[in-house]
Amino acid sequence: MCADFTRIRRFLDERDPPTPCLVVDTDVVAARAREFGAAFPGALIRYAVKANPAPPVLDALVAAGIGFDVAGPAELRLCLERGAGPADIAYGNPIKKPRDVAFAFEHGVREFTSDSPADVDHLGRHAPGSAVSIRVVLDAPDSATPFGRKFGCAPAEALDLVLRAAERGLRPGIAFHVGSQQPAVAAWEIGIATAAKLFDEAAAQGVAMTRLNLGGGFATAHRTPVPPLSAYAARIASALAENFPAGRPELLLEPGRVLVADAGLLRTEVVLVAQRDERRWVYLDIGRYNGLAEAENEAIAYRFEPVGTPDGPDGPVVLAGPTCDGDDVLYQRTPYALPLALRTGDRLDLPGTGAYTASYASVGFNGIEPLRTYCLGRWGDA
Ligand SMILES: *Cc1c(COP(=O)(O)O)cnc(C)c1O
Repeated sequence: MCADFTRIRRFLDERDPPTPCLVVDTDVVAARAREFGAAFPGALIRYAVKANPAPPVLDALVAAGIGFDVAGPAELRLCLERGAGPADIAYGNPIKKPRDVAFAFEHGVREFTSDSPADVDHLGRHAPGSAVSIRVVLDAPDSATPFGRKFGCAPAEALDLVLRAAERGLRPGIAFHVGSQQPAVAAWEIGIATAAKLFDEAAAQGVAMTRLNLGGGFATAHRTPVPPLSAYAARIASALAENFPAGRPELLLEPGRVLVADAGLLRTEVVLVAQRDERRWVYLDIGRYNGLAEAENEAIAYRFEPVGTPDGPDGPVVLAGPTCDGDDVLYQRTPYALPLALRTGDRLDLPGTGAYTASYASVGFNGIEPLRTYCLGRWGDA
């Protein structure tokens, strides 16, 4: 689907809300969810709530029949409040307190992810009989925002965890996550081959696994194109056919970014333009602490489009945020060009910013309020 921000821009032009702000079109979220479901027929889809937990976004996804991947009790409570059924909720965070496992189990959650012996033991005690996917770390290409070594056990350790889970009366499966904003479709092929080997090894030990969790990671376009959803789906389908010749396991997918990024657009205002050391610095009212956390290490390079383009040629800029923090610089290595006529008060649009922006904003650093979100469309509140 090609993102179209006409309705959002019209809302911003007419209502002229204070900047910075994010506007999300819930109709686009629902359409994106349907498109994702069609690309992976038969798979259980669990939206990763952290990408954008705005209640209207969750409402659109509930209506589209999508389930949820939660990281803890607060996200779980939020999904239940918006009408999600506990059978459609997975607790995908391998790092969790035993009492939070018990809380989820009491509320009907029966699907978990784990990657350590202690956590498997907690699940056996507090979530008896539940499905538990053992998350493996892959030897696959890094994504734009990789998870490093924080999550996942080595494939060699995974079999022990699978057997341990089965011994404790849990129903083990395998999970992996290729890293967020992952343009290398080959990463899923590596994950699927790794999982198939573990399915065989567990079967040889008398444990029949039935579930494979392919995680999230599907990339969205900013300044450079990414593979279309159809390309991910086709390569994943052929990898499953090749590695599971006797029939594919039940699939779980945990998309975050890909369902919401292109449903959102952020508008910001130029605070100041200054010349420093031969470079033109443009300071915006959006920065790393109030919405653009993913500019860290310049990992995600957003598009910046002047609103009502000032006349004249472009020139190179360094882009920085508004706070008194030296790290609140967005891009000083990634080349950006903006109109030389750009002045205080001019506005810029950042299309494709519906994911990992508002949910990453601080609560009040330097007194700046969290990024305000307006939701349009059928499930909207604006
Ligand atoms: C964040 C997260 C996701 C979503 O990742 P995207 O890159 O946004 O698709 C899925 N699963 C888990 C366990 C996550 O932590």
